[in-house]
Amino acid sequence: PPSPIYRGRFAPSPTGPLHFGSLVAALGSCLEARGQGGEWLLRIEDVDEPRCPPVVAEDILRTLEACGFAWDGEVLWQSRRTERYHELLRQLQEDGRAYPCACTRRELADSQLAPDGAHVYPGTCRDGLPPGREARAWRLRVDDVVVPFDDALQGHVAQDLARDVGDFVLLRADGYFAYQLAVVADDADQGITHVVRGADLLDSTPRQIFLQRRLGLPTPAYAHLPVVVNAAGEKLSKQTLAPAIDRVAPVPALYAALRFLGQAPPAELAHVPVSEFWQWAQAAWDMARVPHRRAASADFGNT
Ligand code: GLU
Repeated sequence: PPSPIYRGRFAPSPTGPLHFGSLVAALGSCLEARGQGGEWLLRIEDVDEPRCPPVVAEDILRTLEACGFAWDGEVLWQSRRTERYHELLRQLQEDGRAYPCACTRRELADSQLAPDGAHVYPGTCRDGLPPGREARAWRLRVDDVVVPFDDALQGHVAQDLARDVGDFVLLRADGYFAYQLAVVADDADQGITHVVRGADLLDSTPRQIFLQRRLGLPTPAYAHLPVVVNAAGEKLSKQTLAPAIDRVAPVPALYAALRFLGQAPPAELAHVPVSEFWQWAQAAWDMARVPHRRAASADFGNT
């Protein structure tokens, strides 16, 4: 069969129940995929297993169902993909692209900070482990290059990998694979052509594109939706105590998410059955109305 022209996905990390911020990403990615006549896949990003209890993932799936989301095919679970991630790591090791690193968090605590507040790896173990030290993690050797891409919503983005990120972790000291490697592997293996997700991941995209190239994998098109922030300007998350979406009455939240995404549903749509909500949303969806902003407050669009 011909490969689809559009295959999107939603990829929640089950560290907490589905909240308004993740609902926005789910809704935006799904409506755009359907609007393009494409497929929409679901992936549970539980690669960080200690932080992702299976009951939370099940809870997210039930909430998505209650919200009327219908995904294509089987759910992909990162926790079941360790073999595949090892295979890709081996490929990078054989190419000399991945190298072992002995540095501890404490040793890196003084290293330079990147614009996003993360530490830029100073390259301590780049040319070999210091004598007497053992490998803890594996890192990807990045080139001194600027990685540019054009985001459908955020416009032209470019990141100097060596300066702003440094050699980044592929396999963590605790034995779990890093998010960056897992996402790149999964987007490729699921045949994702278009990634629609929150702009909190904009800074990760150049790393993912660099990794795709080193692995000979295709680069999807990207559209980063504005992130939902609370009144204090913090991203909604478990840490900022974002409330879970109500499974019994999900339509008001769906309605608010649709407005957040710049669409203009009539007020009555906040109180219709789920199926009616989707009928309206799918017919009216227009990506061009989504605000080209990195973040907006939760009541944005409700005013
Ligand atoms: N699992 C990530 C999150 O929930 C999303 C990753 C992605 O969409 O690429 O923030």
